[in-house]
Amino acid sequence: MQYVSTRGSAPALGFEDVTLAGLASDGGLYVPESWPSFSPDDIRALSGLSYVETAVRVMAPFVAGSLDEAELRELCQAAYGRFSHQAVVPLVQLDHRNWLLELFHGPTLAFKDVALQLLGQLFERFLSRRDDHLTIVGATSGDTGSAAIDAVAGREKIDIFMLHPEGRVSDVQRRQMTTVRAPNVHNIAIEGSFDDAQAMVKRMFNDADFKRRFNLSAVNSINWARLMAQVVYYFYAAVRLGAPERPVAFSVPTGNFGDVFAGYVAAKMGLPVAKLIVATNVNDILHRALSQGDYSQGQVVATATPSMDIQVSSNFERLLFDAGGRDGLALAAQMGGFEATRAMRLTNAQQEGAAALFTSARIDADGMTMAMRWAYDAAGQIIDPHSAIGLAAAQATDLDPSIPVVTLATAHAAKFRDAVERATGTRPPLPARVGDLFAREEHYVKLPGTFEAVTAYVAERATPRA
Ligand SMILES: *Cc1c(COP(=O)(O)O)cnc(C)c1O
Repeated sequence: MQYVSTRGSAPALGFEDVTLAGLASDGGLYVPESWPSFSPDDIRALSGLSYVETAVRVMAPFVAGSLDEAELRELCQAAYGRFSHQAVVPLVQLDHRNWLLELFHGPTLAFKDVALQLLGQLFERFLSRRDDHLTIVGATSGDTGSAAIDAVAGREKIDIFMLHPEGRVSDVQRRQMTTVRAPNVHNIAIEGSFDDAQAMVKRMFNDADFKRRFNLSAVNSINWARLMAQVVYYFYAAVRLGAPERPVAFSVPTGNFGDVFAGYVAAKMGLPVAKLIVATNVNDILHRALSQGDYSQGQVVATATPSMDIQVSSNFERLLFDAGGRDGLALAAQMGGFEATRAMRLTNAQQEGAAALFTSARIDADGMTMAMRWAYDAAGQIIDPHSAIGLAAAQATDLDPSIPVVTLATAHAAKFRDAVERATGTRPPLPARVGDLFAREEHYVKLPGTFEAVTAYVAERATPRA
């Protein structure tokens, strides 16, 4: 499988190169040259398969040329063997038509583990082949940092430096990063905000010499391999609810548009997806874009769903490219306009291409609270605030009542205990496997919020390329 850039001028690359590159050299994102196609018989043949076997079948066409089936299976077994539920991503029924797909049974209790555990395995495999070394540098306000650290801790060919704003991530989130003890894990608390930390990371990536010397890499959701890993659970859930005979709708709590784009990929591959509901909180740029064609950036408002507090949604570019007719040079011009003015209109082709499959809903704090209470009172389920935004959006969307709706449950309720307690009066306990989180020793350094202090720290400890 070859991959092309959404901005039309980077070279096409195979899966291994795309995984290690992350962003394309023209600033675009990689997408498959064409979508693999699954017939109804291919989909029927997935019924009854384990999660790992489903993953091997669904991902095989995307890794063709870089990994054979046995290698892919081995990496999937290693990645998903670390999940605490036998089903990896169990489906839970809420009422006659609403279902939850629990994606939070990985080591850090958020759905990002599904993609990052596999990405850690892929990095290790490809770096050993090349005898190369990678330095991951990132800034986090929560979930991505802990999932990335867990996925690469102890790996010889990788160092990870994760910056978090001191005092501004929750205790659970900080401890999930700082209690990991491995020589290649470097946690840095910086004085300043998340945006300050993010700006420093960007500046480091812009320093071409520094980037080359340490082979800097990011693990954010623009990496194609992360999206690919997420396509699997759409197949897994839909087959259990009757696909290919019966279409299924999905409601997806959305931030960077990675998770819901994976649902679009599944539909392009032939899965009968009736609708993809893009659920946003009051940071609603995607709701405005999908309902009115207006993609213009506002101010970020802090909410009880921090993983969805975004005003630019990086993976949306992939949809604009594919739904808009795959004209990379035209999209490069459109994105250039957005980067200059922080606003753009979708073209008619983009709007129509998206409307065929997507709908959207903007859910405020009251809507979120009501969904959390409903899940608790009606179905005995304690759900986290992000999943509640998804459920509220599912309930607000008018669909053929014979179609089952699956809400993606993206985080464990215990990760957001305060908000859950406020809504339901119940404080969810931490699951047993992370129960000693507050007894473990923390390891991190505090650095002043200056670019010089942080780069000096990284340069002293990262492994330069041979
Ligand atoms: C990252 C995250 C999201 C948003 O997913 P995107 O792929 O960025 O749209 C939603 N919920 C939780 C809990 C997350 O960690």
